[in-house]
Amino acid sequence: MTITVPFVDLKAQYATIRDEIRDAMTAVLEETAFIQGPHVEGFERTFAERLGVAHCVGCSSGTSALTLALEAVGVRPGDEVITVSHTFFATAEAILGLGAVPVFVDVRADTHLMDPEAVASAVTPRTRAIVPVHVYGGPCDMDAIGAIAARHGLKVVEDAAQAHLATCQGRMVGTLGDAACFSFYPGKNLGAYGDAGAVTTADPALAVRMRSMRDHGRAAKYEHDAVGHNHRMDGLQGAILAVKLRHLDGWTEARRRAAALYDRHLGDLGLSGIRPGPGCRPVHHLHVVELPEGIDRGALQAALQAQGIATGVHYPIPCHLQPAIDGRPGSLPVTERLAGRILSLPIYPEITEAQIAHVCRALRDALVPQPA
Ligand SMILES: *Cc1c(COP(=O)(O)O)cnc(C)c1O
Repeated sequence: MTITVPFVDLKAQYATIRDEIRDAMTAVLEETAFIQGPHVEGFERTFAERLGVAHCVGCSSGTSALTLALEAVGVRPGDEVITVSHTFFATAEAILGLGAVPVFVDVRADTHLMDPEAVASAVTPRTRAIVPVHVYGGPCDMDAIGAIAARHGLKVVEDAAQAHLATCQGRMVGTLGDAACFSFYPGKNLGAYGDAGAVTTADPALAVRMRSMRDHGRAAKYEHDAVGHNHRMDGLQGAILAVKLRHLDGWTEARRRAAALYDRHLGDLGLSGIRPGPGCRPVHHLHVVELPEGIDRGALQAALQAQGIATGVHYPIPCHLQPAIDGRPGSLPVTERLAGRILSLPIYPEITEAQIAHVCRALRDALVPQPA
């Protein structure tokens, strides 16, 4: 029997919730509640309750969530926003889209997360906000980042696109800044069946502003207070997300078991998954290992692919070195070194012990010289 291991397996998950999804979608179709409406409102309410935050504003993607949140906290053209380069491009894109300037800081070598010391030295009189990214599903050091923000009067917008239900010191990601942005892209831990996103906040005024801005800056049906966007969430996505949210705790525990199993198999090779700081419970959106010096990553990925194993790299080109941004090579040494050495192994709630064992066996065969 040959085992194959896809990088994610959305079909396996769909098979477990097919009937619930069909009923939820049928309800939206029967009600023709296609844009926003009761199914989106229902999801917003339950997601806010699960996180323990007052407000959730559903929107069209994680990227539009970042745009809405940054705009609402007052980021204006020319403002500086401190963030990391070791993230998906959308984090920087949302800042640039507002005419603001992303100021990239390095990550910590152990956690791969925003380095608070680097943030402290990047603050200038033009800094307006900080965007920590809970990359791989691991919470950033929000106490340290929050203290810097408080000292300088800066806003904090979490990029929680990969970190639904992650906690630090028992506090939930999505409640640790002025606002937090979630993506429900299909492959995320909580994924819609299309594009969708949300912003959470404890601040009622921010929530009101974002609800207006996601819907053409509307105050009433044909009265526009501001020039906004069309960043609304579809009714179908709201209904699907409400179904999937009921399963998210179980799926998160399954990811934690998979990550622990990888570490058991690979710890002796020095290939443990990257973890956030003490007291934090990550949600393992990605299972990233750092390859030893001198390993040809492309050749390793090809060898794994030959065994039916799909892998990824998150991310091979840091934001500041993207052609669209064209920053200075050498300016972020940790980020740039990691980009060449990281490898993401398959992880999803439905991955089996046999699949994980197969990945680990293939990795060991490729990395450890075989006795003649
Ligand atoms: C996925 C992702 C986004 C963008 O979300 P979309 O829903 O694809 O627009 C932003 N930031 C990070 C860290 C992400 O992983």
